[in-house]
Amino acid sequence: VPAASPIETDALIVGAGPVGLFQVFELGLLGIQAHVVDTLHCPGGQCAELYGDKPIYDIPALPVCTGQELVDRLLAQIKPLGAPLHLGHQVSMVKPRDDGRFDVQTKQGLSFISKTIFIASGAGSFEPRLLKVDGADRLAGHQLFYSVQDPAQFRNKHLVINGGTDAALDWALYFAREGPHRAASVTLIHRRDSLQAAASNIHQMQALCNAGRMKFTVGQITGLGLEGGQLTHLQITDNNAHTHPLALDALLVFLGLSPRLGPLADWGLDLERKQVLVDTEKFQTNIPGIFAVGDVNTYPGKKKLILCGFHECTLAAFGAASIVFPNQPMALQYTTSSSKLHAILGVKKLAHQPPSD
Ligand SMILES: Cc1cc2nc3c(=O)[nH]c(=O)nc-3n(C[C@H](O)[C@H](O)[C@H](O)COP(=O)(O)OP(=O)(O)OC[C@H]3O[C@@H](n4cnc5c(N)ncnc54)[C@H](O)[C@@H]3O)c2cc1C
Repeated sequence: VPAASPIETDALIVGAGPVGLFQVFELGLLGIQAHVVDTLHCPGGQCAELYGDKPIYDIPALPVCTGQELVDRLLAQIKPLGAPLHLGHQVSMVKPRDDGRFDVQTKQGLSFISKTIFIASGAGSFEPRLLKVDGADRLAGHQLFYSVQDPAQFRNKHLVINGGTDAALDWALYFAREGPHRAASVTLIHRRDSLQAAASNIHQMQALCNAGRMKFTVGQITGLGLEGGQLTHLQITDNNAHTHPLALDALLVFLGLSPRLGPLADWGLDLERKQVLVDTEKFQTNIPGIFAVGDVNTYPGKKKLILCGFHECTLAAFGAASIVFPNQPMALQYTTSSSKLHAILGVKKLAHQPPSD
């Protein structure tokens, strides 16, 4: 995709997990404007993706909150800083420029010029688990899809959806219901008869199946049948090892997401066991101006915990301040009492507060 004119920024954060989000806050307190990019369409990284409804007990001063609640609280905390979130974009290239800044590009066509980079890519880029059947790679993007970019392309089509989670069920229900993109037929295939989806989705599916508007089949896709290069049917093998054909126009696959190191491997960073090596003064990598925070980094004593990532963000932000504002010493200020920080955060001074600096 050709890139539009690059967005210039002080800081570019790769990853909108809990640590990438808190990095926005720590940079913001020092007056450093940031943009955030994440491959996923929702912020929150592992907290939102892997355990959104499960409790966390070790966030300081928050005795318990769910993964999603933590993400929502972080988003509320960084709201005053107005950092744009570019979701659905995977950072594919980071390259130093002659002027000391960095060129950054996303696979989907955004480009940035940034003074500093913060890699907060955690466990890696979440990518869809691929269908492991001969010939599937050649059909991807034509008749086999791992996400829905344009629902209109499935209108009036015979659609098969593979998967047993809400991601699969949400789309199955969407295309089976009356609506602008209703498919000619919808068949959901899952390897077990139990689905890992919300009860309300399962009830709606049962109602649509009873009304003859969609079908649910237990089995696995074991073959792809092509005629003249076109996918015309699938081979479905059931749990009794019986195989039968299923005709279709298009296949949507939702087998979950798996984290990958991804393009970061090619950015010239020193790595140790697929983690980015950093110092513990600034959490800077071997490339000055590129910092790495959260689960993606490693150093002696590293613990992959959210609160450790938050601490790393603080020191990395001070590290970046000397690049963004050269020759300007950055004093530590308290959010309790600094009117400068109150202005940044948009908070009003209360009458009982002590005089500030
Ligand atoms: C089940 C489970 C329970 C947990 N419970 C706890 C707990 O109780 N307490 C605790 O402290 N920790 C817990 N953790 C660990 C915690 O979730 C991680 O430490 C934390 O999510 C790390 O945050 P992060 O922001 O560094 O990375 P992540 O949360 O992994 O987020 C990284 C983000 O970067 C994005 N990304 C990666 N590469 C790119 C790229 N090239 N371009 C654009 N975006 C990219 C990814 O899509 C992802 O959204 C738990 C983890 C799991 C799996």
